[in-house]
Amino acid sequence: MTKRVVIIGAGAAGLIAAGRAAEVGAEVILLEKMAEAGKKILVSGQERCNITNSAPLEKFLEHYGRNGQFLRNAYHRFFRDELLALLARYGVETQEERGGRIFPASGKAEDVRDALLRYATTHGATLRYRTEVQRILVADGEVIGVQAQNGERIPAHAVILATGGAAWPATGSTGDGYRMAQELGHTIVPLRPALVPLTVAERTLAKALQGVSLRNVRCTFSMQKGAGPAKVLRIPYPMPPTGEMLFTHFGVSGPLILTASLAVVDALRDGAKVVLHIDLKPGMTEQEVHARLQREFEEHAQRLLSNQLKGWVPAALAEVLAGLSGVAADRPVHTIRAEERARIVARLKDFRWEITGSLPLASGMVTAGGVALKEVNPVSFESRLIRGLYIVGETLDIAADTGGFNLQAAFSSGYLAGEHAGSGGLRN
Ligand SMILES: Cc1cc2nc3c(=O)[nH]c(=O)nc-3n(C[C@H](O)[C@H](O)[C@H](O)COP(=O)(O)OP(=O)(O)OC[C@H]3O[C@@H](n4cnc5c(N)ncnc54)[C@H](O)[C@@H]3O)c2cc1C
Repeated sequence: MTKRVVIIGAGAAGLIAAGRAAEVGAEVILLEKMAEAGKKILVSGQERCNITNSAPLEKFLEHYGRNGQFLRNAYHRFFRDELLALLARYGVETQEERGGRIFPASGKAEDVRDALLRYATTHGATLRYRTEVQRILVADGEVIGVQAQNGERIPAHAVILATGGAAWPATGSTGDGYRMAQELGHTIVPLRPALVPLTVAERTLAKALQGVSLRNVRCTFSMQKGAGPAKVLRIPYPMPPTGEMLFTHFGVSGPLILTASLAVVDALRDGAKVVLHIDLKPGMTEQEVHARLQREFEEHAQRLLSNQLKGWVPAALAEVLAGLSGVAADRPVHTIRAEERARIVARLKDFRWEITGSLPLASGMVTAGGVALKEVNPVSFESRLIRGLYIVGETLDIAADTGGFNLQAAFSSGYLAGEHAGSGGLRN
């Protein structure tokens, strides 16, 4: 008898799962609530789709923080090379860019989505759009099918839950899978936004700097609980020593901020006060900044402070920095006293912002939290609670920083779940 596998969600994980389950001989029905498949793939990587990354396995796993080890088994079976070979078989050539990021050579996310669709349909998977699954049907601890929103019941020997997270709900990922898994007894680790812009207490100042982008700066965060000492906030993802950030009308964003955002969100949830420290001149010590500024002030004695600072920071920031240091921006630099110069130096090396929160979950690029990993088999992605139920992709408690890591997790988990669900699979 042919095994029937029903997959909920035609995103990255669901599409590849459908392809693999059909390839190993199962009858596959892929149910998608939107009118087309892979809407999140289409917006990924600024519509260019950063598929994966060339980092070696150990470095790769660091990008998932604490939960990276869960993926080790899966990556031994189906990792980047296998993924890229599969995509190449369906016509997607790829190229590597800065930071090991791998994109389709065409620069089109659509090509990745279409290749996965071809993989699934070539092997005979059936796709049904505009079909929203409401619940997973279970009898005696074993999956027996799913029920759609319109009441239709679709029987199945195995069900793969691939509904994604709750970020960017316009793509169809509205968090349905968390509810469905919870109804079956799964633990949902609290959902939080990751890769999300942060809000600051100094709103007026942020608004004045809106759109200003800082390159080659260092961002660190400190946290303080109650009257306790301030501590450096540990960021669980590899944080580049220097990089880029930008100001928005509500606060701060850009690569460095997004990478640190989940740790900041968690510290705030824990009741800590969090401060962002921007080192605008990370390549120089405070003494070196001091000495150079003093030399410049002597060489260009008549120059106004704001003009002098424009050589150090973007123009929009020059006046703000002078103001925050308590020195009028229109003063000729020869009138600036040593202690005033010291205040400017302190700002250049430690430009502080109090972080008040983040934009909501819907605005994050990824959802942190989700189905607890201890309840899922890391080889087959089968639930340890319900036989025949497989849980994959962002629905799991997995969230990485940027660089192609989130999609690789979705692809690997989807592929392996498809293989196990389609061919009989492991029993826990
Ligand atoms: C703007 C943006 C850019 C990104 N760029 C990158 C990038 O370049 N590289 C990278 O690695 N990661 C990137 N990510 C993250 C990455 O896209 C996701 O982590 C990944 O797509 C998750 O795959 P998934 O299959 O688990 O879920 P999704 O791709 O979200 O797919 C879930 C699917 O399930 C469907 N669905 C949901 N509920 C139901 C239901 N009840 N019934 C039927 N269908 C349902 C949804 O409509 C959707 O099609 C980006 C995310 C965003 C928001």
